[in-house]
Amino acid sequence: MPGLTIGCHLSSAKGYLHMAKTAVSIGASTFQFFTRNPRGGKAKALDPEDIAAFHAYAEEQGMTVFLAHASYTLNPAAADARVQEFARETFADDLARMEATPGQLYNFHPGSHVKQGVSVGIEKIAAVLNEVLRPEQTTTVLLETMAGKGTEVGRSFEELAAIIERTELSDHVGVCLDTCHVWDAGYDIAGDLDGVLETFDRTVGLDRLKAVHLNDSLNPCGARKDRHACIGEGHIGFEALSAVTRHPALRGLPFFLETPNELPGYAEEIARLREAFDE
Ligand code: FE
Ligand code: FE
Ligand code: ZN
Repeated sequence: MPGLTIGCHLSSAKGYLHMAKTAVSIGASTFQFFTRNPRGGKAKALDPEDIAAFHAYAEEQGMTVFLAHASYTLNPAAADARVQEFARETFADDLARMEATPGQLYNFHPGSHVKQGVSVGIEKIAAVLNEVLRPEQTTTVLLETMAGKGTEVGRSFEELAAIIERTELSDHVGVCLDTCHVWDAGYDIAGDLDGVLETFDRTVGLDRLKAVHLNDSLNPCGARKDRHACIGEGHIGFEALSAVTRHPALRGLPFFLETPNELPGYAEEIARLREAFDE
């Protein structure tokens, strides 16, 4: 499917082939899933047959990219050493498993500094990355832009840039821009998308941007809440979100919906966004 590379978050319960087929059935050309139970449980064993069938099907469909999302409960910036260690172990295990599907994207939430302060949080997150990244890995690890609720690290592009600067194998590191999160963090992507992307380019570099989470927001710009809305039903609006998919600086990136929908709702959002993209 040429044109916009777009998909949505799917359940991984039935494996890779099932996710790819579900994606195609709703007009998607990519998909996202959690690598394991969001609560951080043990991951299901990989099924080589499923992966081989997925690769064959994806090739047939021209599906080249997916995004694996780490459990959002992990906190590599945690004050408690055991909590930080659990994040490190889980990332390392996820990344080892990702090599069964080479060349894909793995996204994680940078974490919350709790009461340690943002600079300690940044150091801890970079330290975890430096322990889990391997020179030979083919997966690109993405830091997600955060809304800044509580003590979340990564609500400003500067914070993400600071983490990346401290990462030794930064060739393997990129950013996933979540439209709801940056909006909630105070970046006005509806009023000044060009300006926000210029700021991103100056701080992080647009070459680091590898994926976009396309969500509307239930709250006004700067609210720091992180409540996703369906496309066109929030404060960002359909026009502004469609403009994100059409921006020349973002051409070719994969877009992932994390809107409060079931499959038919996702199919509708994908169709509307494709229609506006192709106009
Ligand atoms: Fe996320
Ligand atoms: Fe997101
Ligand atoms: Zn969110």
